Amino acid sequence: MYRNGFDRLLESFPKRINFDQNLKVSFEETQNLIIDAVSPLPGEDISILDAVGRVLYEDIVSDILIPPVDDSAMDGYAVMAADTRGASEQNPVTLRVAGECRAGDSGAGKQVFHGTTVRIMTGAPIPAGADAVVRFEDAVELSGYVTLFGETASYTNYRRAGENIQKDDIVLPRGDRLKPADIGILASLNRHCVNVYRQPMVSIISTGDELAEPGESLRPGQIRNANACALCAEVKKYNGLPKYLGIAKDSISDMTEMFIRALQADVVISTGGISMGGYDFVKDIYDDLGIEIQYERVRVKPGSSFTFGKKGDTLIFGLPGNPVPALTSFIEFIRPALLRLMGAKRIWKPVVHARLKEDIRSARVHHLVQGYFTIENNEFFVSTTGNQKPSMLRSMSVANCLIMIPEHVEKVKAGENVMIQLIDHDEI
Ligand code: AMP
Ligand code: MG
Repeated sequence: MYRNGFDRLLESFPKRINFDQNLKVSFEETQNLIIDAVSPLPGEDISILDAVGRVLYEDIVSDILIPPVDDSAMDGYAVMAADTRGASEQNPVTLRVAGECRAGDSGAGKQVFHGTTVRIMTGAPIPAGADAVVRFEDAVELSGYVTLFGETASYTNYRRAGENIQKDDIVLPRGDRLKPADIGILASLNRHCVNVYRQPMVSIISTGDELAEPGESLRPGQIRNANACALCAEVKKYNGLPKYLGIAKDSISDMTEMFIRALQADVVISTGGISMGGYDFVKDIYDDLGIEIQYERVRVKPGSSFTFGKKGDTLIFGLPGNPVPALTSFIEFIRPALLRLMGAKRIWKPVVHARLKEDIRSARVHHLVQGYFTIENNEFFVSTTGNQKPSMLRSMSVANCLIMIPEHVEKVKAGENVMIQLIDHDEI
């Protein structure tokens, strides 16, 4: 089942023609259509101590003022600003210290009159009558009197009630991904618990007769399973709950058994077995299990064999076996879907312009080139990480960005500006 007339487009293509024309969906279409296919998960109450990185299901509305009363921003002396008028080094003003107000005091009964001051600590309520605070550093106290050597304007070192948070403010809107500062705000608002979107459960399957897990003995011809651990790490990084199911052999029965178990999750990710090889059975399994392929064969390099299917609300992603396209497909297609499942408003990585340090040949499809950016004299520069073979996981490990060459661009030369996606930065 294809959307937006893609099914008809698909029919109109001969079975095997030029590589790029055989690819049906553009990179951007794939990204957008996957997001359209996602319905956010329900909410759940959790402790704020567990909530960092989770996405708010509710608007957080303040029912109090913060600070609750006018208080001091500094340790010093609460004064009437008018009393300091005309004060200078040559002509200092002296006030009588009439008391002290500490953080935690209610402030009741404390008052400043003309000619007097109250010693005050940061966070203590401003006594009645005072409208400014002179820092200890700017005053000299001796025998119950304090001498000031300069003028102080009203509201200096003075925090007004509610200047941080007003009553009825929507302090944190639904869809925000909680940062440590947000957790602090929730605590300030006396919220022990918070309603956040449930975390998606993500089944992860590796396929391939050649794979051995880390720690297992390696027969000749075998390689280590790099993808499963890397993808579990990616899912965790975005607050999903990965469930790794193991390696499915390149056999219909083994894969079927594993996909049936996998389908209990919100999301299924498999790697390998999705291309044209003689033992690439993943799409046959989709057919057998009633998984409807929504989009496949994307105009992107690396990772054109990426496939997206659905069964009920479960999202099923078939990734290439090579580690680089497996990870770039995760970043470009699965990561935004996970964030949207978790209700996040901000799901795209920042993209900035950078000056290219070397020539890049186009791939005739949307080209994602592993890059390394630096900032020199306030300008972004980028070079490739070198060899871009899809098996070169090392190159992905070195990369801190993906250089994005749109499909209509033939070649980009050193010195030209390109778009780079900052893959290690938070979504905006
Ligand atoms: P496939 O997509 O199954 O044809 O696999 C493409 C390439 O990726 C082959 O060289 C596989 O050996 C390799 N590969 C497949 N799965 C993994 C994995 N989990 N970890 C590392 N390499 C893999
Ligand atoms: Mg394989």
